[in-house]
Amino acid sequence: MNTLELSQSPIPGESLADYIRRLRVGLGLNQKEVAAKAGVHLQSIGKMERGKTAKLNHKTKNGLAYALGVPAEYLDAVCKGVPLEATAALKFCPNCWVPGTAPDPLWMNLRSKYCFACATELRSHCSGCNEAIMSLKHRFCPYCGKAYKAD
Ligand SMILES: [Zn+2]
Ligand SMILES: [Zn+2]
Repeated sequence: MNTLELSQSPIPGESLADYIRRLRVGLGLNQKEVAAKAGVHLQSIGKMERGKTAKLNHKTKNGLAYALGVPAEYLDAVCKGVPLEATAALKFCPNCWVPGTAPDPLWMNLRSKYCFACATELRSHCSGCNEAIMSLKHRFCPYCGKAYKAD
């Protein structure tokens, strides 16, 4: 399975239920695995995917964002029904981030500018060509080929 092809950003008009289900299935996880990884109840995941949950609390949102490998802002955008452009791009610490893993939700906070662990300035744009970084599924910038992680 080629997860690199998985579109992580919400499709305009997509509901929270559809978005969560699409990401989960795309990652090849069942509801139980997502619940365990996100630290939320299995029942809550079921409720979300049945469209019974319209708002996520802070902890659930960050847990889910981690489990599904997307920025918490993406989930925010889906809940609010706003286009993604209105929210922040991906941010990560070029020092602490391990390529191939989900970025820490603390880096994604809209107000975060520096890494909570090492105080390195967070990066949201490619250091080579300054394109916004939309997915950390990739290790290299798709535009200029520069590695996202600092060497
Ligand atoms: Zn750091
Ligand atoms: Zn680049």
